[in-house]
Amino acid sequence: MATKTITHWIDGKLYERAPERSGDVFNPATGEVQAKVAFATPAVVDEAVESAARAAVSWNSSSIAKRTKVLFAFRDLVERNKHELAKLLTLEHGKVTADAMGEVQRGIEVIEFACGIADLQKGEFSENVSTDVDTYSIRQPLGVVAGITPFNFPAMVPMWMFPIAIACGNTFVLKPSERDPSAAILCAQLFTEAGLPPGVFNVVHGDKVAVDRLLEHPKIAAVSFVGSTPIAQYIYETGTKHGKRVQALGGAKNHMIVLPDADMELAADAAVSAGYGSAGERCMAISVLVAVGNAGDKLLPLIKERIAKLKVGDGLEGGSEMGPLINKAHLDKVRGYVDKGVAEGATLVADGRALAVAGRGNGFFLGPCLFDNVKPEMTIYKDEIFGPVLSLTRAASYDEAIALVNRNPYANGVAIFTNDGGAARKFQHEVQVGMVGINVPIPVPMAYYSFGGWKASLFGDHHIYGRDGVHFYTRTKAITSRWPEPRHRGVNLGFPQNS
Ligand code: NAD
Repeated sequence: MATKTITHWIDGKLYERAPERSGDVFNPATGEVQAKVAFATPAVVDEAVESAARAAVSWNSSSIAKRTKVLFAFRDLVERNKHELAKLLTLEHGKVTADAMGEVQRGIEVIEFACGIADLQKGEFSENVSTDVDTYSIRQPLGVVAGITPFNFPAMVPMWMFPIAIACGNTFVLKPSERDPSAAILCAQLFTEAGLPPGVFNVVHGDKVAVDRLLEHPKIAAVSFVGSTPIAQYIYETGTKHGKRVQALGGAKNHMIVLPDADMELAADAAVSAGYGSAGERCMAISVLVAVGNAGDKLLPLIKERIAKLKVGDGLEGGSEMGPLINKAHLDKVRGYVDKGVAEGATLVADGRALAVAGRGNGFFLGPCLFDNVKPEMTIYKDEIFGPVLSLTRAASYDEAIALVNRNPYANGVAIFTNDGGAARKFQHEVQVGMVGINVPIPVPMAYYSFGGWKASLFGDHHIYGRDGVHFYTRTKAITSRWPEPRHRGVNLGFPQNS
């Protein structure tokens, strides 16, 4: 049977010409190649950008009412097709169905936020800044903008970007991850069905070749990126060098501090959910537990008990709580970290390396792994592992724990578990991290706040979605206006002053 090829979406339709290059799309639960994905050449990227540039002429000046209507219709179509979208996520990414549904839901929330663009894009007005003079500002779209997204949230992360950019009046070229490209195409189809004109939303698949063309293209005004830190830094440097506005969100190493007074059952539930959910392939996954005082001794048996009950399997099968990793290369990399943790002297108290999933022998599965006695100089502490590997480290005091967090170069998310309100308040003030959870392990802000880390977890000035998203995808224009009266006539070479 011929393998199907997932192709681009350009100018309101699927791209028909056969690709010069392509990549494999796996089903991570079976290890089989289920499709090929076309890789865009620079010429194909140019076609998408030209389509977006043509569409920008009318979309930039289309009414708020028209844009909002299309967004509401898109929101309803995504809602109606959410099971199909979630199934695509499980088939190509591997995450279990409940998790995939959660991803879609968080994406829908951003579309709903973008439906409120009438209020969000308002300018300001000051009457009589000088006699008979008014000043006002308007927020205008940038033109054609691009998004480059990672494999771990193939629906939600693109939805952090394109609904807001398009609601603001921009046109969009998305380059989703080549590892799970189908969700982006379904979104494009649904948006078109909702009434979006051709060219307003385009999808090009591919690798570095496509990304580099987007970064250099003179008609792209801004780039949103989400992915690993080294690539985020490259995108930021290359995009800004080419005169673009860039926001580039990078990797993470999220800590969860547990104080001795915390509810240990709650903390153990949270650590296991946030450490192993989506097989640890979340940028907000908890990777390091920092147990203060005697908290570690109380926490460890509770976590082990919970790990032993976790059901790892094909995400499409009911009952599976944790699915496979994205591909064989990543599986090998994560296993390599586990081997290295053992070699460097950490204590492996739960070892998922021998896990076998019945009937899925070729799937990219790794069982949950837990290390105790992890030290800051170990590789498993320093690197972002991005797999089901949780590290427990001990700190003598709160001060020691927060110093460890603040020394880490990554600063995406962090959590503290405690019943002491004063300690929690001190922590939220002192911690040098962009998103903070208090008895909440995965503090992903709602769509009407913005998402973003600090330090090596974000390059650029804007967080993503929320009001920061509207600001990123618009620029302000300040207008000073006077409708002339006879007394305003006469030449005056002085600098304008208010009177
Ligand atoms: P990645 O950096 O490998 O890829 C991200 C995107 O960049 C993909 O579209 C990919 O095709 C492209 N890309 C990869 N290598 C490139 C290169 N050399 N030049 C140009 N483009 C390139 O990331 P990933 O493996 O897909 O995703 C996992 C990473 O994303 C993790 O580090 C995770 O923490 C991070 N992430 C961060 C956030 C956040 O909000 N901060 C959210 C999700 C994922």
